Amino acid sequence: MHATHDPEARRLDVLAELDVLDTPRELAFDRLTALCRKIFRVPMSTLTLIDGHRQWFKASEGMEDRETARGPALCNYAIGQGDPLVVPDTQLDPRFADNAFVRGKPFIRFYAGAQLKISGATIGTLCAMDTQPREFDSEQIGMLTDLAAIAVDELKLRNLSMQDSLTGCSSRRAFRSEGERLSGLAARHASSLACAVLDVDHFKSVNDRYGHAVGDMVLAAVADAAHNSLRASDVFGRIGGEEFGILLPHTDLGQAMVVLEKVRAAVAATPIETPAGTIRVTCSLGGSELGPGHCFDDMLRNADLAMYGAKQAGRNRTLAWIDRAPALAPAARRVFKAGKISFNAGQSAIDCTVRGLSREGATIEVISTSDVPERFKLAVGADALSRACRITSRADNRIDVAFT
Ligand code: GH3
Ligand code: MG
Ligand code: MG
Repeated sequence: MHATHDPEARRLDVLAELDVLDTPRELAFDRLTALCRKIFRVPMSTLTLIDGHRQWFKASEGMEDRETARGPALCNYAIGQGDPLVVPDTQLDPRFADNAFVRGKPFIRFYAGAQLKISGATIGTLCAMDTQPREFDSEQIGMLTDLAAIAVDELKLRNLSMQDSLTGCSSRRAFRSEGERLSGLAARHASSLACAVLDVDHFKSVNDRYGHAVGDMVLAAVADAAHNSLRASDVFGRIGGEEFGILLPHTDLGQAMVVLEKVRAAVAATPIETPAGTIRVTCSLGGSELGPGHCFDDMLRNADLAMYGAKQAGRNRTLAWIDRAPALAPAARRVFKAGKISFNAGQSAIDCTVRGLSREGATIEVISTSDVPERFKLAVGADALSRACRITSRADNRIDVAFT
């Protein structure tokens, strides 16, 4: 199935097929990193997947963020070799002594990572890290390798799960397959189909103030409130950590906005009882509809853009996607390729992942859009492509560009 021999392209193909990046935490994976921390008595452990431009943690212990830039990641180094990478003392290792994650946060002094190998690709690692140097013997390497193999088995299994375990609503996989089925039906029968993305406002501060467990309760309550405002024939799924998707069959955008406003109001009006007291949260929603020639992904992406618009407009509101000036021709292919943004006459470079590509432009993802200038050069190694670009829109970590 994976004809390519380029490890970079092969890894991204497998990750695209697994559809695991940016999915919510799941207990099965959290248990593995918790186990790593206990067995090896280390303060940090992550189950890391290497995207085009970042390392993303499916599970993590002792880490603040769920993703970091890819460049300095020790896990990124580890996927380039066949055997587990063990670095007893990073400061004594010329490969890592100057590394940003060694010299700065999280101050990695010891690193051991076992590769996650799946369908002929190495997609990431399960790793154990410490801020102190340590020894790691062959028995420990064997255990880490076994745990990585369990992670791979779980990654294969999770694809079968159609239900999100925290909220009981559809999993991202189930939401996507319903979305594709309904889009096909709507196109064939010339009926309308609307879609929405709901994102909880300032959810990070809920976690920061009350802790992750209370955060989870809040998420489950938000899902309930939103789901209960919908009809039984509507589809409601958890498509990210604190992001939900809604599909409204036989509904045009105008009608959908009325429903979405009801959902927004229901979430805002719901007092959530938790051990930390009563908590209230709001959410922002973006709505879109299946336009002529659109596929499900176009519709979802437009809803997502509208949702970011709602955030920018002040949050706790619903916004409809309006086709102002489509940045990309409808013929944009969905791709998943590693790329490089360069500017300053090639002096500065930023890793990116290309998600959409047409003759006129591209959609790319970066860790932060704020470092990217209005004009730059985009290189895609796998395609031997290099084009001058001008930004046409920025949203969160995503940029649309036109080739100039
Ligand atoms: P905004 O209004 O811009 O959406 O702000 P925000 O804080 O909600 O947005 P951001 O995307 O920065 O943060 C989302 C947070 O959601 C970060 C992450 O820790 C948290 N989160 C993601 N998944 C889960 C989960 O499964 N459980 C809990 N408790 N928190 C989660
Ligand atoms: Mg979010
Ligand atoms: Mg949010």
